[in-house]
Amino acid sequence: MQKKYDVVILGGGLAGLTLSLQLKKEKPDISILLLERRETAAPLAAHKVGESTVELASHYLREVLDLKGYLEEHELPKHGLRFFFKSHTKEDISSRVELGPRLRLPVPSHQLDRGTLENFMSKLTQEKGSEYLLGAKVSNVELNNEKMLHKVSYIKDGSEETVSCRWVADASGRGSILKRKLQFQKPMEHHINTAWWRLKGVIDIDDWSDNKEWKNYLEPNLRYLSTVHFLDKGYWLWVIPLGSKNTSIGIVADPDIHPFDTFNTYEKSVEWMKVNEPLAYKMLEPLGRGEGLLDFRILKHFAHHTKRIYSADRWAVTGESGAFLDPFYSPGSDFISLNNTWLGDLILRDLAGEDISLRAQIYEQAHLAWVDSFLPIYQEKYKLMGNAQIMVMKIFWDWAVYWAIPCVLFVNNAFTDLKLLRELFASEKGLGRKFADLHKRMQDFFLEWLPYENRIFEHRYIDPFDLAMLREFQSAITVDMESKDLMTQVAVNLNKLEQMAVAMFRLVSTQVKGTSPDIRVNPYTITLKGEVDTSSDEAIVPSEEIVKDVEVMWFYEKESAVHSR
Ligand SMILES: Cc1cc2nc3c(=O)[nH]c(=O)nc-3n(C[C@H](O)[C@H](O)[C@H](O)COP(=O)(O)OP(=O)(O)OC[C@H]3O[C@@H](n4cnc5c(N)ncnc54)[C@H](O)[C@@H]3O)c2cc1C
Repeated sequence: MQKKYDVVILGGGLAGLTLSLQLKKEKPDISILLLERRETAAPLAAHKVGESTVELASHYLREVLDLKGYLEEHELPKHGLRFFFKSHTKEDISSRVELGPRLRLPVPSHQLDRGTLENFMSKLTQEKGSEYLLGAKVSNVELNNEKMLHKVSYIKDGSEETVSCRWVADASGRGSILKRKLQFQKPMEHHINTAWWRLKGVIDIDDWSDNKEWKNYLEPNLRYLSTVHFLDKGYWLWVIPLGSKNTSIGIVADPDIHPFDTFNTYEKSVEWMKVNEPLAYKMLEPLGRGEGLLDFRILKHFAHHTKRIYSADRWAVTGESGAFLDPFYSPGSDFISLNNTWLGDLILRDLAGEDISLRAQIYEQAHLAWVDSFLPIYQEKYKLMGNAQIMVMKIFWDWAVYWAIPCVLFVNNAFTDLKLLRELFASEKGLGRKFADLHKRMQDFFLEWLPYENRIFEHRYIDPFDLAMLREFQSAITVDMESKDLMTQVAVNLNKLEQMAVAMFRLVSTQVKGTSPDIRVNPYTITLKGEVDTSSDEAIVPSEEIVKDVEVMWFYEKESAVHSR
């Protein structure tokens, strides 16, 4: 007799394990089988990449999955994302423009050792009644229609077993079992490569300079707890601390500027650092000798897309088995949180006897639309990474957008509220569509600005929370809202983003085109390449507060703005 389950999850990584915990929390008697091909428990540190979480995923892990206690005890608290830009003397970290929070943050996030986390979650899900099989490699999936259950086969200890289930959730990561089987790959026009490795021991970048003023600018330990990015044209290098007292290092680079064969082995990565990040080379190379180097991995063209995510025929993909864009802002676990939220809702409604056809369709469209609207954040943007002024503006814009819209919607459960989703996305004038349009325009604008902006700035610290607007957007994530107030809040936030966009555009346009600094601008026409609407009723003037905030990000003297062309 074949064993029967409500859900079989293919792959027991972050996406699969979190999905099982989420389902068990909502419906403790649900029967779940997780099949994981790895034979043994996960190793510490040198397990998987994806250690840094941001606000949305932190909320999911802490509040939705109730992992707050575990995270606070066993993983590191994170002190935001931190960026160091190009300077004339990269050997001196204190000379580089530094962007990051200075004071402790009100909204928590974490640095995850993926090995300890996955081991903990696999134990927890078994305690809650899920079956979790290690050394179980999925060998076949037979999807069936409404009347018949699906069949999943796997090989364990040399023999093949087959089980049947109502739902198949593919969480096999880059294994992408269903995508390969049903051929729903989608071309992805973002080709970036990466190499990463883990070093034994704690690495605190505060020790990378003797400059006392620079060191003391932040409380001890806070730089250490950040996800640190060192940037220059075409690349970023990360340094992430792990709760297991080890350190994750990685290079992420555009092959047009840094060919993959310049860093696709450990030896070459070290040489690459010597050329591009000499201080990191000096500090890290000695630590990687002998047993200090815990692992080394590479991925070529890691971004990938998908045509399908949720099917009303009771199958779906979650996590990297669907789409993955870029780790620059650590969004991988955010997408998993969103993915599991939609998928968990479909599974539970279906098990309760509801017809999920319409929901599955809407969730899939909404999910694919989110992926598509996030892509321009990264696509071609590696060209900008050598430019501090553009990147500071871009990073602040991207954060404002992230906190103001997706985070607010997620923490207030809006993504499974069909009425809200319809209001946001169904009509051309829906706020969701407007938001996507504005965001795309700004991403194009940052690229258009590049030919005009090449100054190297040094010895500056810029804190996102010196901007009232960013402070407010971020802290509002923790405020619970009623569904009826949420649309009003999204409208208010979008209006602030429109003003922010106009304030940014006016500064740049004055600098490069000589336009008046006080013009009215229709935010939905922003461009440096063609006509901008400055006279219709849609053209706006930003509030004084927002103008002041945007000036915090502007490195030039406002009065001495000159035409650079
Ligand atoms: C360079 C880089 C940096 C990143 N940094 C971050 C970051 O800082 N923060 C962040 O949130 N995200 C980050 N990510 C993304 C993050 O790594 C992924 O979002 C996350 O690991 C995906 O989890 P998953 O569960 O989908 O896949 P995985 O963690 O890969 O899990 C899939 C599981 O399926 C199993 N499996 C595969 N095939 C089979 C089979 N046939 N049978 C049984 N089991 C199978 C595998 O063994 C594996 O355990 C980064 C990604 C990259 C490429």
